[in-house]
Amino acid sequence: MEFDELYLIKPLLKAISEEGYEEPTPIQVKAIPHLLDGRDLMGCAQTGTGKTAAFALPIIQKLTNERPKGRRRPIRTLVLAPTRELATQIYQSFVTYGRYTKIRGVVIYGGVSQRPQADALAKGVDFVVATPGRLLDLMNQGLVRLDSVQTLVLDEADRMLDMGFIVDIRKIIRVIPEKRQTLLFSATLPKDILRFANSILTDPVSIEVTPEMPTVELTDQYVYFVEWVHKMDLLKHLLAHRDFYRVLVFCETKHTVDRVEKELNRSDPAKKKSGGRRGKYRRAEAIHSGKTQRARERALDRFKKGEIQVLVATDIAARGIDVEEIDHVINFEFPKEPEVYIHRIGRTGRAGARGIAISFCTHQDRPMMRKIEMLIKQHLEVVAEHPFKSDIRPPQPTVIDPKIRARNLAKARRLRRRR
Ligand code: AMP
Repeated sequence: MEFDELYLIKPLLKAISEEGYEEPTPIQVKAIPHLLDGRDLMGCAQTGTGKTAAFALPIIQKLTNERPKGRRRPIRTLVLAPTRELATQIYQSFVTYGRYTKIRGVVIYGGVSQRPQADALAKGVDFVVATPGRLLDLMNQGLVRLDSVQTLVLDEADRMLDMGFIVDIRKIIRVIPEKRQTLLFSATLPKDILRFANSILTDPVSIEVTPEMPTVELTDQYVYFVEWVHKMDLLKHLLAHRDFYRVLVFCETKHTVDRVEKELNRSDPAKKKSGGRRGKYRRAEAIHSGKTQRARERALDRFKKGEIQVLVATDIAARGIDVEEIDHVINFEFPKEPEVYIHRIGRTGRAGARGIAISFCTHQDRPMMRKIEMLIKQHLEVVAEHPFKSDIRPPQPTVIDPKIRARNLAKARRLRRRR
C-alpha cells in the first residue's frame, strides 16, 4: 500500500516523502483510515512500529481541515505521554509532519520552568503534548483550557498507569468534553489497562501490531529449572561465570527488582577481596518506574559505560533501552505474556552479535514456557545440570511444524553466514 492511498492531504504527503518514508507501516495502514473516520482506537503497539505517525498524521489532517473561524486558537488535540522524552519525541513528530500546515502546538513537562510553556499556551495552540503532572499543575493555575479538545491520545498507557498517573489522568479527562475521539496506545494489555480503556473509549477499533522476531534466531535460549528460593543463588552462580559481561535481568515487579539489585551488590566478591569500603563498588543497578528519571538515566549510563555488570529492570522501565553488546538477558521471572519474552530477548543478539537468553523456570512457569515455545516455534534448551536444579520433570516436546522448523534453521544459517 502507498501513502497516497490513505487519503492524506498534500502537505502531509510532502512532509512524509521528505522524511524518506516510502510506504506506511502496518499500524499506519490499519489505523489511519479509522482515525480519519473519527473512530476511537485501542492500539496495542510498541515504540518502533511507526505508531506516532499513525495517530499524528490523521490528527494533523483534522486540525488543518477543520480550523475554527476567528482568531482564537483553542486546544483541539491533547496527547498525554508518561515521560518528558516521549512527549518531546511526539511533539517533534507533529512539527515534522505538520511543517507544511499552519498548526501550532506546545510540549509540556515538569522539571523545567513553566514560563515558556505558559507563554505558548497564552498565544494559542492547536495541540498540546504533555506529561500528566505538569499539565494538571497548569490547569490548576487556570493556564490551560481543555474544553475545546476534540481528540485525546493516551500514549504508552501501561507505563502511565505503572508510574501512578491514573488519578491525574482521570482529573484531566473530567474537564475534556465527553463527545470526543479517544485513542489509547499501550505496549501490553493487562487487565487494569483494559478496564481503564473500557471506561474512556467508545466503540473502539482494536489494532494490534506485534514486532517482528528477527532476533529470536540470533539468540541462544536456555531454561534453568529452579525453585523460587534458589533463584538468587543461581543468578549469583551464573554471574560468576567469566563470560557474563553485560547482563540485563528482568523481573516482574519493582519489589523483586530492588531485592535482586540489593542482593547482587551485597554478594559482590570483589568487595571482600579488595578489602574495600562496604558499598563502594556496585555490580548492579536497578531501574523501574518507582525510581526518578535521573536515577534511571544514571543507572543506564553506568551500564552503557560498563561500570556495572548488571542492570535489573522491569519490562516497562526497560522499554526503549538501546544498549549495544548486551550479551546475556536473564529472565529472573517469566513475563505474564509470551510476546513480552520476545521483546526481552530482543535486547541481546543485536547488531549481528549472538546473544544468550536464560530463563529461570519454576513449576508454576511451565505453562508460560510452553506458550513461549509455541509462539517462537522453537524449543528453549533445558540446562539439566546446575547446582540449584529443581526436580521438575523434563518438558514434553512441543509440537513444531517440521516445515517451519526447517525454515527457521535455514534462516538462522543464512544470517550466520552473512556475518
Ligand atoms: P514510532 O514507533 O512512532 O516511535 O516510530 C519509529 C520510527 O519509525 C521513527 O523514527 C519514525 O520516524 C519512523 N517511521 C514511522 N513511520 C515510518 C514509515 N512509514 N516509513 C519509514 N519510517 C517510519
